[in-house]
Amino acid sequence: MAKVLVTGGAGFIGSHVVDAYIKAGHQVAVIDNLETGSMDNVHPAARFYQVDILDSSVERIIERERPVVVNHHAAQVSISRSVADPVHDARINILGTLHFLDLARKYGVSSFIFASSGGAIYGNQGWFPADEDHAQNPVNAYGIAKLTAERYLTYYHKAHGVRSVSLRYGNVYGPRQDPHGEAGVVAIFVGALLDGNRPIIYGDGQQTRDFVYVLDVARSNVLSLNMLLQEGDSSLPDSLVFNISTAKETSILEVLDLLASFLGCSSECQFEPPREGEIRRSALDFRRVQESLNWTPTLSLEEGLRETVKWFSSRASRAVQSSPERA
Ligand code: NAD
Repeated sequence: MAKVLVTGGAGFIGSHVVDAYIKAGHQVAVIDNLETGSMDNVHPAARFYQVDILDSSVERIIERERPVVVNHHAAQVSISRSVADPVHDARINILGTLHFLDLARKYGVSSFIFASSGGAIYGNQGWFPADEDHAQNPVNAYGIAKLTAERYLTYYHKAHGVRSVSLRYGNVYGPRQDPHGEAGVVAIFVGALLDGNRPIIYGDGQQTRDFVYVLDVARSNVLSLNMLLQEGDSSLPDSLVFNISTAKETSILEVLDLLASFLGCSSECQFEPPREGEIRRSALDFRRVQESLNWTPTLSLEEGLRETVKWFSSRASRAVQSSPERA
């Protein structure tokens, strides 16, 4: 059992990571400013601090909690916002990460797990699926920030002995994703279809992503934590980087068709010009994490999308039942 501090633990992925850690018997503290996260997502057994990752009070929290591992999921997650306001993106995604890394060094936190992004770091891929040694050519400020944060992790291991794992996620989807956010095409499509609206597709819909289910992603965080708790310092390289993905490419239109068929509605959509900073195709090789941590994705896209649709549908019907207009 270990004490873990999860940043962004009220958000979509971070809250599933918190649940998985608590289920595995770990003690968890959460830091989140609730900008996009929600208290509804926070596990009741986790100690919660509503605070910005750049706030100076974070130091007192780390001093009090004394975590063995920091799992860093808090971030500015919108690619378009990173294009429109790269300074804000860098403040949260570079300086925010560095703030925690430096506190980790100062308070003897042994290890750091970082939520990175495969699609954003590799940019427009030269081969499919891209492995972790693929060239790193981010095409937006968000990707540059994630890559920069990874470089800091390498440096902090070399210079200060803080061990780290960067998990380069594909396109994560599943229960609790925000249907009103800008990122998270699955949740946005399900939300629109349940509201009877036509989903908006930016571009021609033939762009592809590597879709990975959120519970599989949470499990990769548990396996990473176990490895960090078990491995001695000498056996870890300077930077451990793993793609967390399915190695499959699926187009946005295919996803929409599947969701519409599960919901029994039309997949008619509205096309808008492509958004700046988006890549065309993405698929990520997961063989390294399979060999190192014995992680593989367990749900097929169809199974994961069905689970997601079930979760959003039951939430929508609960909201209708509790609406005052019914009384
Ligand atoms: P999310 O928006 O649901 O979660 C982010 C959480 O961080 C939210 O709870 C938000 O309130 C919190 N947060 C944001 N800024 C903060 C700040 N300044 N101080 C404190 N808390 C703050 O997004 P998500 O999809 O769950 O993403 C989690 C992490 O995974 C991010 O680092 C993201 O870059 C990374 N990631 C996500 C995907 C994906 O497909 N969703 C893919 C690759 C990487």
